[in-house]
Amino acid sequence: MALTDLIPIPGNINPGVVNAKQATMLSLLGNPRTSYSNDCQSVTNPTLRDLIVVQDVGPFKAQGLRPAVESLTTILTEVAKEQAEVYGALGSAGMLCARLVRGSATSISNHSWGTAIDLTLNGVLDTRGDKRVQGGLAQIAPIFNRNGWYWGAGFRTEDAMHFECGDALIRQWLEKGVIGSTGATGSAGSGSRQILMLGDRGPEVTALQEKLNAHGAQITADGIYGRDTQAAVMAFQSSKGLAVDGVAGAATQAALGKS
Ligand SMILES: [Zn+2]
Repeated sequence: MALTDLIPIPGNINPGVVNAKQATMLSLLGNPRTSYSNDCQSVTNPTLRDLIVVQDVGPFKAQGLRPAVESLTTILTEVAKEQAEVYGALGSAGMLCARLVRGSATSISNHSWGTAIDLTLNGVLDTRGDKRVQGGLAQIAPIFNRNGWYWGAGFRTEDAMHFECGDALIRQWLEKGVIGSTGATGSAGSGSRQILMLGDRGPEVTALQEKLNAHGAQITADGIYGRDTQAAVMAFQSSKGLAVDGVAGAATQAALGKS
């Protein structure tokens, strides 16, 4: 069986990995451009532009966000060891490319931040949306997954050529201070705290809401980080002289922890 032969989308793909939401990308990394089209355009945001690198990642050179390119290099080193035949066939159809998601008028592709890459096998691109994937891509997807990358075969419209840094990986960079901090979201020496923001849900959000209320907010501690929680975070940040971005990052959570 050739690496480019098509198979059905395997079961249980992307275990524990969630694709990076647009809110996460915009909140934590900023907007690469002010306007988008369906064509590749350059990144105009100067902070992001400073983080773009071109680097040899093993089988090819890639241009993307520095921590993403470094992570990709690690992954491809593992692919070389564990899936040598696939490694020998790997090529790139592009990483950094500021544009809209194909077929969408509003969604910004994660390629715009240089945190996604499209891969070819022996120069062949997997066809998007046919619910079938090149067997060779299925063989290396678990290696991407365990490094925090999401495989596009799991998208509603199957996109098996596409691999991107997952939501948790993007947040980890902020926590570790790998990417530029805006103050509120930056690393303030408390790497174990999870960054929380609009759209998040869960017990960590409930705990955050309770702390905000202890500091004078009056919101429902329902575990849903909605507009009211975002507003309460912004009011708290303002009262403490922190950067007001509505994202509960390390500095904000540290300030909330103090009575
Ligand atoms: Zn892609």
